[in-house]
Amino acid sequence: MDFAYSEADEAFRSELRDWLDEELPKFLAEWASPEDDDDDAASSDGGAGIMRQMERRRAWQRKLNEGQWAAITWPKEWGGREASVTESMIYAEEMAKYRTPGIYNANGLWQIGPMIIKWGTDEQKERWIPNILNADDHWCQGFSEPEAGSDLANLRTVAIADGDECVLNGQKIWISTAHIAKWGLFLVRTDPTAIEREAKHEGITALIVDMEADGIECRPIRDIGGEEMFNEIFFTDARVPVAYRLGGEGEGWQVAMGTLGHERVGTAGLAIAMRQDVEAIINLARAENPEALDDPEIRARIARVHTDVEYTRLLNYRALSKILKGEKSWPEVPLAKLQWSHLAQTIAELAVDILGPAGMMSRGGPDAVDGGKWNRLHVYQRFTSIGAGTTEVQKNILADRAIQFER
Ligand SMILES: Cc1cc2nc3c(=O)[nH]c(=O)nc-3n(C[C@H](O)[C@H](O)[C@H](O)COP(=O)(O)OP(=O)(O)OC[C@H]3O[C@@H](n4cnc5c(N)ncnc54)[C@H](O)[C@@H]3O)c2cc1C
Repeated sequence: MDFAYSEADEAFRSELRDWLDEELPKFLAEWASPEDDDDDAASSDGGAGIMRQMERRRAWQRKLNEGQWAAITWPKEWGGREASVTESMIYAEEMAKYRTPGIYNANGLWQIGPMIIKWGTDEQKERWIPNILNADDHWCQGFSEPEAGSDLANLRTVAIADGDECVLNGQKIWISTAHIAKWGLFLVRTDPTAIEREAKHEGITALIVDMEADGIECRPIRDIGGEEMFNEIFFTDARVPVAYRLGGEGEGWQVAMGTLGHERVGTAGLAIAMRQDVEAIINLARAENPEALDDPEIRARIARVHTDVEYTRLLNYRALSKILKGEKSWPEVPLAKLQWSHLAQTIAELAVDILGPAGMMSRGGPDAVDGGKWNRLHVYQRFTSIGAGTTEVQKNILADRAIQFER
């Protein structure tokens, strides 16, 4: 690490720690339950579990907002702190160390809010930014379609202008939490000729959609863990005011690249969270399946995971160091995404192997270890090599750019 935190950075860290020391125990006393402590998704009882967990997340996000800690990178006039990149890193690390609860509107705070601040009209900002910040409504992000995932620009949901409204027809898929969202940021095609003109990145527009409007049907998809977290969405002559367009007509690709960019940074706390997971697994194994810890193969895997976690931590510091020197954080950011996907899956696989047969018991079973958390993670973590850019596509990006740099 070739940089040091400044006095101002350390003051920022102390202020955050003081606030967490004061507020987090009170919040946990009011909201904690073993099930709610599982931060990644809802419980196996489907809808009711999701709603319970979302209410807890709403309360935590509101608490953060009271302390001005919900959206620290946002402008001060919209409730942020205009945090520097170093402060963002400190924030991610401290929140991971304190194992803070999840937030209600991750899509809204990390992706859609910043885009509304950047692209929205004054009226749009006043209408939606406080709503996102204070967790008044839940937001989803509607990009993917059956024929437009990695190849997102192939999207075909059309929005045709009709006076001061657009009429939407088409289908989205894999849209997380759309069934409980009031609002969504969608990418739609306002120029249906663009694909046949071989200009598919053109003619895409970003629209904010009221998910309760007529002509919108959400069908939850049951995932590999038995939960209903993501959805198919069908638009049949759904009407959206033109005033809900974010950015200009045909500027949707630029708006989208902004949101995906936000998704791909901010992995600083992950190394800490992953190290905590490894410690938790080893402690559980001591109680549940101690002989596994004498197995040379398991011991080698633990050592490897520790090394990989440390590599991930250093990768983040190297990215930060480059940003502080005004250099591009290439290739650390795409590498960090790859590393996170790989490690999240490796740790979950290690967990079920190290915990023995009881580690395979799923949620609800009387003998399930740690409430079946690790078994669930074992299947759930498959998503890490798909969401926010698949592993194969990330590797393509790295290889393409590496070849360009070599030339
Ligand atoms: C848990 C979860 C939550 C999600 N939430 C949302 C959400 O809220 N909103 C949203 O819009 N989307 C969401 N998605 C969808 C996600 O963005 C897509 O799944 C992702 O972009 C991949 O698209 P696809 O599923 O169509 O796969 P495809 O793009 O069809 O890929 C299939 C396989 O082919 C490989 N492949 C594709 N192209 C190439 C290439 N050029 N070279 C090499 N290999 C290639 C891929 O790596 C993959 O292995 C979510 C997905 C998951 C798993």
